[in-house]
Amino acid sequence: MVDVCHYDVVQNDKYGRYLVSNKDLDGGEIIFTDTPYAVGPKPDTPPLCLGCYCPVENTLCSRCGWPMCSKECELNPLHVLECEVFVVAKARYQPLDDSTASSPQLDCITPLRVLLAKEKDPERWQKELEPMETHTEERQKRPTWDADQVNIVDYLIDHCKLGGRFTKELVQRVCGILEVNAVEIPSRGGFSIRAVYPRLAIAAHSCVPNIVHTILQNDYTVQVRAAVPIKSGDALHLCYTYALSPTLARREYLQESKFFNCECPRCVDPTELGTHLGTLKCSKCDNGVIISSSPLDNDAQWNCTDKNCGFKTSGVAMRKMLAVMQAELDQLDAIDPGPQAIEQREAFVNKYKSVFHPRHSYLLSVKYTLAQLYGRVEGYTLDDLPDLMLERKVEFCRLVLKTLEVITPGESRMRGMMFYELHAPLMYLARNEFSAGLIDKDKLKERLQEPIQCLADAARILMREDPNSPEGITGQVAYQSLEQLKASLEAL
Ligand SMILES: [Zn+2]
Ligand SMILES: [Zn+2]
Ligand SMILES: [Zn+2]
Ligand SMILES: [Zn+2]
Repeated sequence: MVDVCHYDVVQNDKYGRYLVSNKDLDGGEIIFTDTPYAVGPKPDTPPLCLGCYCPVENTLCSRCGWPMCSKECELNPLHVLECEVFVVAKARYQPLDDSTASSPQLDCITPLRVLLAKEKDPERWQKELEPMETHTEERQKRPTWDADQVNIVDYLIDHCKLGGRFTKELVQRVCGILEVNAVEIPSRGGFSIRAVYPRLAIAAHSCVPNIVHTILQNDYTVQVRAAVPIKSGDALHLCYTYALSPTLARREYLQESKFFNCECPRCVDPTELGTHLGTLKCSKCDNGVIISSSPLDNDAQWNCTDKNCGFKTSGVAMRKMLAVMQAELDQLDAIDPGPQAIEQREAFVNKYKSVFHPRHSYLLSVKYTLAQLYGRVEGYTLDDLPDLMLERKVEFCRLVLKTLEVITPGESRMRGMMFYELHAPLMYLARNEFSAGLIDKDKLKERLQEPIQCLADAARILMREDPNSPEGITGQVAYQSLEQLKASLEAL
């Protein structure tokens, strides 16, 4: 692969080190690729194979006795190094009774891999990991510090007898580097693991990112692209949080896991740039909505926008309510895809439509999932859906796209997926109207232009993803559907 490098590293007080583009970039253009310094399990993970990261129950490495799915995975070069450490120290893995519970013993694996990589190539460590932020002072105040000290630092140095090779301070430092800089990535099998990318880690965060990243599954290389056109000299911003989360939740997550207070344009604006992802409807008046009086202060009061109404509520009450809502959403996510998954989500939307703005984060997340479920589950396939429900799918797709245009503009995966979802009901509705004699051939051709554009956008965005990932597969399907639709249009 050609080593593209369209960025410079610069520094200021606000971000520390960060990346700026060094040329004018088009949306979708590759800015750089990066290989992981280390890949491995994320903290609190259930038992997984240390070769391929698939979940395992009771299969273990024949040499060291740590979780492993097959002989083939035992030969994974990353595992061979740590295998040796465990064998020499006779450090055995204690299998859990419940293979879905998290296994704190696995917390030491990724730090150990970083340490072994450092030992092997000290120069690369010096250049790439040494300058990384660790936020040691803040981390020391947290309960995870003591847990890391026992499960990782003491375990590796005392139990695995690595005291002659590494110091305890260094191991804690590696824990900090991983906590602050590692990103969650999907494994080849689609399970969640983590990796630290030296160059990607330098990109600053914004809740309105202008770059996107794609993980390639064969070696976990990351490709970083411009999401939108970027001018030479502009800072490159990645989004470290879930894009559809409301400001309160995003800022709490960023403070908790990345140790900074986001003050990006979206966080500063009480309407989140007009998307209303955090906005509530007012129950005391007809015209007002409830927004934060000071979005950068998590404890600030929330007020009705109608001056005559005067309704207010505390930031604490708002955070409590969001936590309750999040728990309800988690329950919805636990339902297997099927008619129930649709019906319970529709019930959720109905229950909260008078409480939240129609594009509030929680309603929108549910609508995002509904947009994907309609047309896909038993009893709700595209052929089953009456026009009214096809229109509902269209409505949800458009609503989500309207928000995504603002918060993850350009070539983002989520937009690609929504364009793909939108094409189908538009196509079915047009065809149904044509079959019913409501529109003529010319009108049909005109109506099919939008689904064609949707498929073209979906294919362009999603075919950049790994061909074996769900998004990459959708990209290829979109491309084939596009060719078919174009052909059938010509034949009309
Ligand atoms: Zn495996
Ligand atoms: Zn082993
Ligand atoms: Zn922000
Ligand atoms: Zn009001």
